[in-house]
Amino acid sequence: MKVIIIGGGAAGMMAAYQAAKEGNQVLLYEKNEKLGKKLFITGKGRCNVTNACEIEELFDHVVTNKEFLYSGFYSFSNEMVMELFEELGCPLKVERGNRVFPVSDHSSNVISALERGLKAQHVKVFLNTKVKGLIIKEEHACGVRLESGDTVMGDKIIVTTGGMSYQATGSTGDGYDFAKKVGHKVTKLTPALVPFQIREDFCQKLMGLSLRNVGVTLCADGKKVYEDFGEMLFTHFGISGPVVLSASSYIRQYQGKELKFLIDLKPALTKEQLDHRVLKDFQQVMNKDFGNSLDHLLPKKLIPVVIQLSGIPEHKKVNEITKEERQQLVSVLKRMELTITGVRGFKEAIITQGGVDVKEINPGTMESKKIRGLYFAGEVLDLDAVTGGFNLQIAWSTGYLAGMN
Ligand code: FAD
Repeated sequence: MKVIIIGGGAAGMMAAYQAAKEGNQVLLYEKNEKLGKKLFITGKGRCNVTNACEIEELFDHVVTNKEFLYSGFYSFSNEMVMELFEELGCPLKVERGNRVFPVSDHSSNVISALERGLKAQHVKVFLNTKVKGLIIKEEHACGVRLESGDTVMGDKIIVTTGGMSYQATGSTGDGYDFAKKVGHKVTKLTPALVPFQIREDFCQKLMGLSLRNVGVTLCADGKKVYEDFGEMLFTHFGISGPVVLSASSYIRQYQGKELKFLIDLKPALTKEQLDHRVLKDFQQVMNKDFGNSLDHLLPKKLIPVVIQLSGIPEHKKVNEITKEERQQLVSVLKRMELTITGVRGFKEAIITQGGVDVKEINPGTMESKKIRGLYFAGEVLDLDAVTGGFNLQIAWSTGYLAGMN
C-alpha cells in the first residue's frame, strides 16, 4: 500500500517508520526544511522523550480523553518507546520524576535516531513541501494536494500536523482545517501548559523570584479544582514554572469563573506549627522592627510583599505585634492569593488543548470513523497531558498505531 503522511514531527516520523516497517511504500511530507523542528526545542533542547513510570500511571498524567489512549499506550508503551530509541542508536537515561532524556542531553540525537530509522525503512521524505488539502472520493481518502498544485494519490493518508503552539516550528493548525473540511468536529482550541497572567501588581515586584517546594491550589468560584506541589516562578506578567504550567491544563472547563491561584509558602507545616515557628523566630528578635524579622522565614524579595499583605506596619516592634496580627501573617504565608486574569497565548504554550474530536476516531487504529483510509495522530487530536514526557508519549503511541494500521 502507498501511505501518505502529512507532517514530519514526532507522530509523523513514528507513523512513517512503523508503516514502512509493515512493508508499505511511505511518503512523508514536511513543510519545513527539516524534520522535527518542534522536537528539537522540547525539554529545553534536551527532549524529554517519555516517562519511565508504570504504564498505568501514564493515564494519570493525561488531562484530556485518557480513555481514548488505552489501546495506544498498551500497543506502544513507554517501555517500547525506550527500547526503540536504544535500538535506533539513541541511548537514554532516566532522571528525577522518571523523565527520560537522551544520554547526550541533545534533542538532535532523538531526531537523528528517527531519521536513521526512516532511512533504513526506505521512507521517502519530502521537505519544504506543504500539503494544502486532502482528496476524498466517496468518503474514502485517496490523496493529497500540495501547495505547488501537484496532487499525490495514495491508499492511506495519515494527518500528523501537530497543534497550534510555537508556530515557528511549523505547527500552524493545518490539520484542523483538513479535518473540518471533510466533516470532522474540532473541539475548542486553547493554549495549555502555559503561564498565567495575574491581576495583583505585587507580582511585578517579585519578577524573577523562583519558589521551590510550595503547595499550590487552583480555585474556580471558590471551589478547589486542582492541587500540586513543586516549583514556580514570578514573571513580568504573572506566574510560570512547572506547577503553574500543569495547573493551566485544568482551567479549560472553568472559563468565565473567578480563578484564584493560592500559594502555600510553608506546605510542610500546619497553621499551628507555623504559628509556633513564627513565635519562636519573633522571640529571637523582640526589639527589632517587624520588617527585619522575617529573614529566616522567607526569600528576601518576598518579604516586603508579605509585610504588605499581612497589614502589620513594617516599623512596628516585634514585641508589640498582637496574637491576631501574628495569625494574620501566618494566614498570608499559608494562603497567598493571586487572581488569574488569563493565560498567555499559543506563542508561549507547550501544548494545544482541543483538536479533532476523538469520538470520531477509532482508538485502536486512529482511523477516521467518517472517512475510510484517513488517520489522525499526535497533537492534532483532542488529547493532552501534563509535562514529564507524556505529550510525546501520546505522539509516539498514536503515531505508531496509525502507522501500524
Ligand atoms: P509536531 O511535533 O508539532 O509536528 C507537526 C509537524 O507537521 C511539523 O513539523 C509541521 O511543520 C508539520 N506540518 C504542519 N502542517 C503541515 C502541512 N500542511 N504540510 C506539511 N507539513 C505540515 N512534550 C514532551 O513530552 N516532552 C517535552 O520535553 C516537551 N517539551 C516541549 C517544549 C516546548 C517548548 C513545546 C512547544 C512543546 C513541548 N512538548 C514536549 C510537546 C511536544 O513537542 C508535542 O506534544 C509533540 O511535538 C507533538 O507531536 P506532533 O507530531 O503531533 O506535532
